[in-house]
Amino acid sequence: MSGNRIIATGKRNELHALYPKAEIVGGEKFLLTPAFINSHDHGRAIGTAALGIPDDLLEIWLVKLSSLPNIDPYLAAAYDGLRLLRSGVGTVAHSHNPRDWENMEAEAAATISGYKDAGIRVAFHPPILDQNLLVYDDAEQFLAGLPAHLIQQAKQLMKAVPLDRQDYFGLCTDLFNTYHDSKQFMCHVQVSPVGGQWCSDELIESAVDFARQHQTKVQMHLLETGMLLYLTFIGMRYQQLK
Ligand SMILES: [Zn+2]
Repeated sequence: MSGNRIIATGKRNELHALYPKAEIVGGEKFLLTPAFINSHDHGRAIGTAALGIPDDLLEIWLVKLSSLPNIDPYLAAAYDGLRLLRSGVGTVAHSHNPRDWENMEAEAAATISGYKDAGIRVAFHPPILDQNLLVYDDAEQFLAGLPAHLIQQAKQLMKAVPLDRQDYFGLCTDLFNTYHDSKQFMCHVQVSPVGGQWCSDELIESAVDFARQHQTKVQMHLLETGMLLYLTFIGMRYQQLK
């Protein structure tokens, strides 16, 4: 190794003859592998269960996440990065959960810098969604069926995110131009319509177009909710019964 580069590979004796002063690490009980990749992380630093939010049905669990403590994005990423490195992970796919949607550019900068300082590669995913924020149903009809004292709270959770499609791809362009590193691959900026149930077809198509134009990738959650499968099943049964 020289700095962070592997400069030669080969049989131990031959390498030792070529580089007699090189430090020898490892031993019979070690296995040399490429660093692992964590293909999905939210960079929360501390697991949600440890912070008092046990696993649950996705939709119920997501609402509870609003009670998570607001950890500084730089610290969260640096701590997450160090813990991952200790487990042999050299690259993390970070699906960002904004503390404040309107401040996502600064949060992205802090997060990317936290991973960089920890020394881990990151594929950074700024999120976007444009439908079904609290329920997979007609919003007005859902609100009309709620007890009066819950309506305001529900409306709050159903509020559209403050980035429209144009703002989002503008942000992605800025992040891409500033941080995307196609030489050393320390940071890749990839677009992230968060999941099929939360994104319109137009939004997903625009994300694919952006990725093609910029030679980057699209990252989404797929089929992470049993509730959606259940609703699909009920829908199919209903169609059959009609
Ligand atoms: Zn996720």
